[in-house]
Order: sequence, then structure tokens, then C-alpha cells
Amino acid sequence: MKASSGSIRIAVLGAENVGKSAVTVRFLTRRFIGEYNSNTDLLYRTRFQSEDSSVCIEVLDTCSRKEFSSTDLTPTWAHSYVIIYSTCDRSSFDSARKILDSLNKLRIQGCAPILLLGNKKDLSHMREVDSDEGDRLALQYGCRHEEVSAADDYKIIRNIFQELVADAKIVQQQRATLPKKRRSSLTNVSKKLGAVFGKKDSLEKRKLSCDIIDLNTIK
Ligand code: GDP
Ligand code: MG
Repeated sequence: MKASSGSIRIAVLGAENVGKSAVTVRFLTRRFIGEYNSNTDLLYRTRFQSEDSSVCIEVLDTCSRKEFSSTDLTPTWAHSYVIIYSTCDRSSFDSARKILDSLNKLRIQGCAPILLLGNKKDLSHMREVDSDEGDRLALQYGCRHEEVSAADDYKIIRNIFQELVADAKIVQQQRATLPKKRRSSLTNVSKKLGAVFGKKDSLEKRKLSCDIIDLNTIK
């Protein structure tokens, strides 16, 4: 999976059915479609216009069903992470905790901003995870926590992603000014521990398929 240079790369992770595709598509196209094909990882490329600047972004909407997913490559790929759970699915919150724990083991926090995102807030009658629990989990792992509804919220989701992109940009700029030795040691930590996400026998060597949608050519 090759990234175009200069892009801010966001990996969207989480259990199946929590709304990873719904949130991603809502952010990128303003639309809530309802049903999404979730059999493959999708990489979206687009230009993101924020208040005073424009930046190329790549958003990887991962699919948790595949035996080997691009998720295994994200430690060396992503500049930021959105970990989604459903506020009406307790087990998806446990999955989010596991992902946060894996990222924590890789010491990703300092290198890439992480957002813990509770989705399906509109289904309040089915709620299984309190907002406070999300706050506490985020505090434990030193990341941000927000709750949204991909079905109802466009502006909130856009603002949340806008802040994430801005944070990731700052981290990238800071990394660019680090001495070369320190920079490569950060990369090595990620590489060496990348196995946490998959089989030890380097998944990086595996050619993972990932459909690419370039929204610049569609819009
Ligand atoms: P993914 O497997 O994590 O990519 O989940 P999807 O994006 O495919 O969404 C799974 C299901 O949840 C679909 O039927 C969506 O329409 C639904 N869904 C996603 N987000 C929301 C939301 O915010 N509210 C409600 N009510 N349904 C949602
Ligand atoms: Mg999906």
C-alpha cells in the first residue's frame, strides 16, 4: 500500500458493524447511505479544505472481516487513528479497548493522534456504553473521546476530523524537525512491534489488496 507523499493518512479501526464506513462516508461525502459493502478495505483519497488551508488526506476504512486486513499495516502507515465503537454494543467497546492497548504497546500515542469515537448516539434507547466510560478509557490511553451519530451528524463529524487532521499535521511537522536518528528510531519501534497486529511472519511482505477511491476524480 503506497501513500502519496505529503498526505495526512487516517486509519479507521473498530469492530464490525459499528459504523466505520458510515462515519467515513459521512465525513468525506456528507451523505449517510445506510448500507455499505464491508467486504474489503477501502482507501479514500481526497483534498480536504479546512478554514485556512487545504491538505491531501487518505482515509483507510478497514474491514474487520478479512483474515488479513490492512489494519496490520497501519502502524507504519497511519498518521492518525479513529477507533470507533458503537454506544449500543458493549462488545465493540471492548474491541476498541484492545485496539487502544495494541497501539499503546507500539507507543503510537506520541507519533500519531488517536481519537476514540462512540457512534450511533441517536439510538439512545439501546445504549449500552455510557459517555463517561468512553471518557475514562480515553483518559487512560491519553487520547480524545467523542460521541456522534453518523446518521444525524455531519457538521460535528467534519469538525472532529478537521481537528484530527490539524493535530496530525502538527505532529508530522514536529517529526520532520527531529534529528534524523531519533526519527528513524521511532519508525523502527513501529516496525519491530508491528507483529502485535498480526502474525510475526512479516505481514508487510504480504501484498494486501485495498480498493482505492479517489474522490478528487469523482467530485
Ligand atoms: P462497519 O462494519 O463498522 O463499517 O459499519 P457500517 O458503516 O457498515 O454500519 C453498520 C450498520 O450500522 C449499517 O446498517 C448502518 O446503516 C448502521 N449505522 C451506522 N452508523 C449509524 C448511526 O450513527 N446510527 C444508526 N442508527 N445506524 C448507524
Ligand atoms: Mg465497513
